[in-house]
Amino acid sequence: MSTKKKNTAKDVKVIADEILESAHLAAGVAPAKRKEKCEVCNAEVAPNSTEPLCWVCRRLKISAWRDSDLQAAAPE
Ligand SMILES: [Zn+2]
Repeated sequence: MSTKKKNTAKDVKVIADEILESAHLAAGVAPAKRKEKCEVCNAEVAPNSTEPLCWVCRRLKISAWRDSDLQAAAPE
């Protein structure tokens, strides 16, 4: 019987504003030009996006989901 303890002090639930901001800055995403805007940061939404999110927010959101999903579902 092996018990793996995961000491995750911080819970990954929401994307912090500062993370979003720095991610956008790093990615060089400019403020909105398109008619469709990211509902989080108002940057332009990716053409193939099914959500009102720019690719940066989408990626962060997805990875946050996957993170919490992994934590909840699989112990590894
Ligand atoms: Zn965004």
